[in-house]
This record gives sequence, C-alpha cells and structure tokens, in this order.
Amino acid sequence: MTTYLHSRPRARKAHVCDVCSRTIEPGETYTRGVGLDGGAGAWTYRYCAHCAVLITYLSVWFNEDEYVARELVENWEPRTGAGRAVKAAAENRWRTGDGALTPVPVILTEDTETTWRPTGIVLPEHVAA
Ligand SMILES: [Zn+2]
Repeated sequence: MTTYLHSRPRARKAHVCDVCSRTIEPGETYTRGVGLDGGAGAWTYRYCAHCAVLITYLSVWFNEDEYVARELVENWEPRTGAGRAVKAAAENRWRTGDGALTPVPVILTEDTETTWRPTGIVLPEHVAA
C-alpha cells in the first residue's frame, strides 16, 4: 500500500515542477509530496501552485488511486473556452507571452456548502469577463 504525505512549503531554492517543468522560484509556495511504498521505497514529487490546483480539479474525475499527474494534464480535453485557456497556460508553463506568470487558476463550484463538485476551472482574469 502506498501512503502519500503532502506539505506546502515555501521554496528556499529553485525546484522544477514535475507537471509543467517550470522553475519554482525561491519564495514561491509549492506542493511537496512524498510517496511511501510500504518499506519498498520512497520518492518525492513537487507541483507548482498552478499545477497543484489543476491536478486537484482533474483528479476529481479520476477513479484510480494511482495516476501520473503530468499525464492527467496531457490527456485532459477541456470542453469550455475557459478550460482551454487554462490548458494552454499550463502547456506554456504558466507564462504569458511576455514571460510573466499567469494567475493561479481557480476551481468553480456550484455550491460550496455541499459536496465537492467542481463545475469548471478558470484563470482569474477570465472570471469577470
Ligand atoms: Zn507546474
């Protein structure tokens, strides 16, 4: 059985995101995961803040316990314009044309009081539009 431990440290040195391959700069908060495989081994993975939100969103529809986060993103076929904008941003390592980081995507839900049921994911700049 595999156990996963997650933490959200602030980077003290540069890391590489295991999903989008962008550099996580010192000072950025990222998700650090450790997988423990019943004594057989341990491994570490890191997601940038942007990819952590996207993986949370995509994994809701994924029934397997084990998945490769990078493949979840690669195989994702968004059905909305906002979703396609998020995927395009991820493929561009969350950088705009002039090299600036895009905002961290936001998961939309129908009702925050009930079940965790996302209805979409958007880049914040698209929320008001
Ligand atoms: Zn990333």
